[in-house]
Amino acid sequence: MDRCRFCGGGDRWIKTCRTLSDEIVRCCDPCYETLRKVLVIVPGEHTVFARCDSCKGFVNPREIVPGTLRPAGWKEAYGGTCRMCVLYGSEPPWNFRALEWSGY
Ligand SMILES: [Zn+2]
Ligand SMILES: [Zn+2]
Repeated sequence: MDRCRFCGGGDRWIKTCRTLSDEIVRCCDPCYETLRKVLVIVPGEHTVFARCDSCKGFVNPREIVPGTLRPAGWKEAYGGTCRMCVLYGSEPPWNFRALEWSGY
């Protein structure tokens, strides 16, 4: 598993970034927050997402409840049940309604 260049931590969804000196490094979220002025995320190289089986929403794999996470069978994609569906049930599409409620 790739480790954060700066703190040695991170998870499997760690970012890939380019530094000002054109070096490609792996960087975890907290370090990226600190170093975002000198780091540029390399786009497309490592796009990972997960699709929730319940609400059919595309979410960050971190939002998938760990026990339900599984490879979706296609490139860099995962499936499972997202945290919100586990918490609030899958009455669809709760996520779009939540957006309406919040005024977006
Ligand atoms: Zn880090
Ligand atoms: Zn869901």
